[in-house]
Amino acid sequence: MTGRVKYCEVCKIDFSILFRVQYQTSKEWIFVCHECLLNLKKDNPAYKYGGTWKK
Ligand SMILES: [Zn+2]
Repeated sequence: MTGRVKYCEVCKIDFSILFRVQYQTSKEWIFVCHECLLNLKKDNPAYKYGGTWKK
């Protein structure tokens, strides 16, 4: 990985650890923080976990 900063797609805050997830039927991967991950995951059949990203 390069050293570039990544932001949570949901809350737009920069975190040192982010989670790669799919949460829509569009199959688009996004990076979110742990807190937003829990929100997206809840009652979401489209949710898919794709790994952890560390700075
Ligand atoms: Zn977030």
